[in-house]
Amino acid sequence: MSEYPVHIEIEPRVHLVRGKNEARFPEANTLLIDDEILTLVDAGSHPEQVFSTLRDLGHQPEDIDRIVLTHYHADHKGYAAYLRRTSDCEVICHSLARDAVESFETMMKTIGIVSPETKEQWLNLLNSRLPHVQDDYIVDGTFRDDKPIDCGEVELIPIHSPGHTHDHTCFGINGHEKILLVDIDLTEFGPWYGNIVSDLEDFIRSIKGIIDLQPKMGISSHLLNPVTDELEEQLSRYLAFFQQRDDEILHKIAEGVDTVKQLAQIPIIYPRIPHPVYFLFEEIMLDKHIEFLSKKDLVLLEDGQLQVLRT
Ligand SMILES: [Zn+2]
Repeated sequence: MSEYPVHIEIEPRVHLVRGKNEARFPEANTLLIDDEILTLVDAGSHPEQVFSTLRDLGHQPEDIDRIVLTHYHADHKGYAAYLRRTSDCEVICHSLARDAVESFETMMKTIGIVSPETKEQWLNLLNSRLPHVQDDYIVDGTFRDDKPIDCGEVELIPIHSPGHTHDHTCFGINGHEKILLVDIDLTEFGPWYGNIVSDLEDFIRSIKGIIDLQPKMGISSHLLNPVTDELEEQLSRYLAFFQQRDDEILHKIAEGVDTVKQLAQIPIIYPRIPHPVYFLFEEIMLDKHIEFLSKKDLVLLEDGQLQVLRT
């Protein structure tokens, strides 16, 4: 049994299905819209969580009509292929997500997993923690950035928010007061941009864009509870991670840690490296900071050696 209620109501017809293990990776929350078109947003929560929510609302698994994916990541597309087989629902995603959702090989390339060594590490992680995402998925269609997704009474408003990944999309629920923030996830870890399709400056812009919408509720994919208290402050704190990481990197380079590989060994962004494949993610994120700092003429990267130009 779960130590917390499996689902909570966000507003009439809109329910947050919480992932197992406090919705931490490789689980994620799912939004369930109990409407004319019974819609799930993401499929990262264990099916037991989804099915028991459906039961509580008087439905069966077969009643799912549609799954909307927020981005191509394994912890979000999660059980979509399985649920599609169970309910014959349609699966839709952003046009930029399509190839990486459909094909396991493309997903790996989109992440940045290309060398045989990282491929082996990644497969090892999936086999132990996400065995269900090694299939190719069927995508029935795509949603548009400029067109709300109509569920009946509830409208989901796509807010394309790239940075975490290129396809990453938040959703307003009947407006912009309540926003599914997805992986602008407000966790203590801070922002994550460890794929080649991630973009640090886009991520910053996307967080600022969300702040500008002045939402009253932010629903993270990896926190059990929606954030309503001091949401703007929490988003600003989340935004501050980028600068803190820049400062830490500059500090370490000045101390003589002068390659990305050595910085990754510390590590700078992860508190610790939980699995060998995470070195890849750490290095990709460091590369993005180095690129950003080089553009600002704060750091020089020459022949793989880093040097601080000014602080
Ligand atoms: Zn993600």
